[in-house]
Amino acid sequence: MYNSILVPIDISEDSLTHMVIPFVQAHTALNTAKVHFLTVIPSLPYYSSLGLAYPVEMPKLKEFQHAALAKLDEIVKQFKIPPDKIQTHAVTGAPKDEILKLADTIDADLIIIASHKPDISTYLLGSNAAAVVRHAKCPVLVVR
Ligand code: ADP
Repeated sequence: MYNSILVPIDISEDSLTHMVIPFVQAHTALNTAKVHFLTVIPSLPYYSSLGLAYPVEMPKLKEFQHAALAKLDEIVKQFKIPPDKIQTHAVTGAPKDEILKLADTIDADLIIIASHKPDISTYLLGSNAAAVVRHAKCPVLVVR
């Protein structure tokens, strides 16, 4: 069975999280797997493009990271997985790169991801989901 499952979460998208919950539960029912939840905060260039000065930026980023992790911890409660089987992560960067990087770090044997935002129906796969499907070294379950 699975030992290490990665579930990337866009904390701004409640509906996507709700779609993913039953699939995560189905794959963790035996309680053998450690489930890693990851949220990625857009990287520094994003903020500097808004004209934010670099020295002011760094403490802000730490605050963002704390806030994102707190929100993720809240969201993860809905999955009803035993706390000792959960680890939450909040990092800065490009979501697809950070998802793939953490998958390597935790030696993920499954990634569970939603296909795209419900309101962007023109795309079958969002850009992050597509990159993860293409580059991941383990099976990827795309929820739609
Ligand atoms: P869209 O472009 O429609 O938002 P994405 O490919 O970005 O599609 O999102 C699909 C999935 O990718 C999300 O459900 C989530 O699992 C993951 N994802 C997207 N953005 C992030 C993020 N900032 N942090 C963690 N996971 C993300």
